[in-house]
Amino acid sequence: MTPAIEKDNIENIKFFQEQKLKEQLEYVNKNSKYYQRIWKENTINISNIHTLEDLRKLPVTTKEDLQRYNDDFFCVDSIDIIDYASTSGTTGSPVNFGITDKDLDRLAYNEAISFACAGVKKHDVVQLMTTMDRRFVAGLAYFLGLRKLGAAVIRTGAGIPALQWDSILRNKPTYLIAVPSFLLKLIDYAEKNGIDLNEVGVKAAICIGEPLRNQDLTPSSLARRINEKWNIQLYSTYASTEMSTAFTECEHLQGGHAHPELIITEVLDKNNQPVSPGELGELTITTLGIEGLPLVRFKTGDILKIEEVPCPCGRNTPRVGPVVGRAQQMIKYKGTTLYPPAIHDVLNGFREVSEHIIILETNELNTDDITVKMTCSNPSFDFIEELKEAFRAKIRVVPKMEFIESEELNRIMTQQNSRKPKWVIDLRG
Ligand SMILES: [Zn+2]
Repeated sequence: MTPAIEKDNIENIKFFQEQKLKEQLEYVNKNSKYYQRIWKENTINISNIHTLEDLRKLPVTTKEDLQRYNDDFFCVDSIDIIDYASTSGTTGSPVNFGITDKDLDRLAYNEAISFACAGVKKHDVVQLMTTMDRRFVAGLAYFLGLRKLGAAVIRTGAGIPALQWDSILRNKPTYLIAVPSFLLKLIDYAEKNGIDLNEVGVKAAICIGEPLRNQDLTPSSLARRINEKWNIQLYSTYASTEMSTAFTECEHLQGGHAHPELIITEVLDKNNQPVSPGELGELTITTLGIEGLPLVRFKTGDILKIEEVPCPCGRNTPRVGPVVGRAQQMIKYKGTTLYPPAIHDVLNGFREVSEHIIILETNELNTDDITVKMTCSNPSFDFIEELKEAFRAKIRVVPKMEFIESEELNRIMTQQNSRKPKWVIDLRG
């Protein structure tokens, strides 16, 4: 299932991508009102773009551009759209996506090769614990990819541990697709109900949404807590509606492999210049082979680094490291720069903290304030000291901490009028 190009040498991969890039740019230039206008304004002639280096001559596309001129990004008539999806914009109203028949095939292909990367085979049974509806692309893409691979899918959807376990015990899935913190809830349920986790036949979980690795690719607190109880392989997958492409880890767990026939990746600094190899920056992508809503140099908002050292699996494609955080959620706190996931990771190391939420505010000195609200039964003085010590060790600073009731926390989390519960509430100006 691994496309030959992925194991080809780096020069050939580059040449191959440049041919694909030309095709995509010509298509975009012909069909996208947005890019026609922007390139004209910047006196860009697309026939002068030949190499990946030339691509840097084109202006970047931001989430704001996509939101503001949403309709102008569509490259097909509405009659050619099969699925309408959406993704959250930066200012409330969602961004609309139109996916054509060919794009759905591309999505299926993308997930099939991604799952193959994580070892999924035709004989596997995969329990899909993510939402398939509500205009999300992920669940649909997973289903299409698994179908293409010939694997069996059990669409249990998100949440409800009792239902998930009923299905695991009955249908014996070998793989799970889930948010990693939900695996902790499954472990908890299994322990309370006398289910022997390591006897149920699950070999692996493909995880989305929360990082399984630290920046040095060692397991995060969350991954460690899962594996302490449940001996399953944890693979990370990373994707978004805008990218229409997934980056999934192979068995060597060294970052998510990019698929050169589907996407071009760049990592840029604040001034939209490429960072040095291995440095952190904002992932910026150009989609390849997309018909409905192709994007050129789209800034994803995700801060990460790209691993370029060859992977032992033989794929010569760049690998995307764990997402450090969202560019917009960068926090400057007591002289330290950090992102909310680092705070999550500290708290995920503590069983005693059942749930938490991070609130970011601007204080009267016009700098950032972090308050962590968490639920924890009877936090002792020693426990609070232990938490502070863990914060100092991992992120060098200690945020404000408040202990609240579970109902109160859930109320704050869901009052944000969002499709997903919010773990970070950013109230900064
Ligand atoms: Zn690999």
